[in-house]
Amino acid sequence: MPEPRGIVAFVDIDDTLIRSFGSKRIPMTEMVRHVQELHRDGVLLYAWSSGGGEYARASAQELGVESCFKAFLPKPNVIIDDQPLEEWRRLIHVRPAAATSKSVAEYVSEVFGDAQSSAQRDNNS
Ligand SMILES: [Mg+2]
Repeated sequence: MPEPRGIVAFVDIDDTLIRSFGSKRIPMTEMVRHVQELHRDGVLLYAWSSGGGEYARASAQELGVESCFKAFLPKPNVIIDDQPLEEWRRLIHVRPAAATSKSVAEYVSEVFGDAQSSAQRDNNS
């Protein structure tokens, strides 16, 4: 099966892109900028939220980054898959504070690093 080489990122809304204090909404500006950079650098972005897909879309719109996302989804409650999440390959969890300092190249290296070296081994054998 051919493996896609691009990075696909699912981005949370609450306390990742925006914080709420009562009725006040405070954008997390470094993360908003990070989303813009990832989109510019070709990362396929999805926004998802426990508040639902429409809430995710409305929040992205409020932050001015709606066009950075391919789609808006609710977070899942049930994942039906033959592999448990902890066995998924090429999946990393990054907290917002760590994400903002990362480049796409760093994501690529963390996600595909092993796959690339094993592909090189295959080519050399
Ligand atoms: Mg959250």
